[in-house]
Amino acid sequence: MRIQSYVCALVCGICFAARASLLRPATFPKTVDDLSFVERLMLRQEGYEPFESVYDKDGNCISGCAYAAPRLEDELAAMARWNAIAKKDLVETHGYTQAQDETITPPATRDYNIPYGNPLRNMACITSPYTGSRTLADGTTSPHYAIDFRASTGTPVYAPANGTVLQIVNDNRCGNGIVLRHGGGYTTVYCHLSEVSVTKDQSVQFGVVIAKTGETGHADGPHLHYAVKLNGNPIDPQLVIEPGHKQCNEI
Ligand SMILES: [Zn+2]
Repeated sequence: MRIQSYVCALVCGICFAARASLLRPATFPKTVDDLSFVERLMLRQEGYEPFESVYDKDGNCISGCAYAAPRLEDELAAMARWNAIAKKDLVETHGYTQAQDETITPPATRDYNIPYGNPLRNMACITSPYTGSRTLADGTTSPHYAIDFRASTGTPVYAPANGTVLQIVNDNRCGNGIVLRHGGGYTTVYCHLSEVSVTKDQSVQFGVVIAKTGETGHADGPHLHYAVKLNGNPIDPQLVIEPGHKQCNEI
């Protein structure tokens, strides 16, 4: 009996250690020098947000480097690659059409399983696009892996597609947040919420209210930080989203 329980504890211990070492580095967080590209990829797929990395004027990572490429040029190349993969997927699998200039347009018939809907129903404009070249006040560069919609606190946030609640977030960056899993490898992320109306593992239908906007976490005013990922990699939400959204500086 005692031998059996020792064996069981040993086997369980080995299994647990193997799984833990697969999911995250032995010492966490590591500096970027210690972290392989595969480890960074796995951290992203586990839901760690890479959107707060900062690069100095020479393109070297100086903050948030545990989740980022060591050089800005590597991060920009990764972003371009993820968006190219998403474009191909949207055209080949989800009926989007691609023009000569490589812009893509959603199909007339809505696919309720990928995040085609606008989480604020085109009632809010975009203040900050998805970009690798967002410059901060001190001259450093911090890629933005999402779009920010201007929205006063309490604005309803609607599910942009059918899905399941993968994660309820609460940290000092995202604040109150939600991660939804949709079809085809797509997930969506919502940050800075004042209210969360769903619970983990809950199924949601396209168009239901999942939250209200706010300014929790690292936000300098009420807005919705909205990210779309394909297989764990953040892509430009404007590739997927239905027509009709506007940039705030254009209206
Ligand atoms: Zn943002």
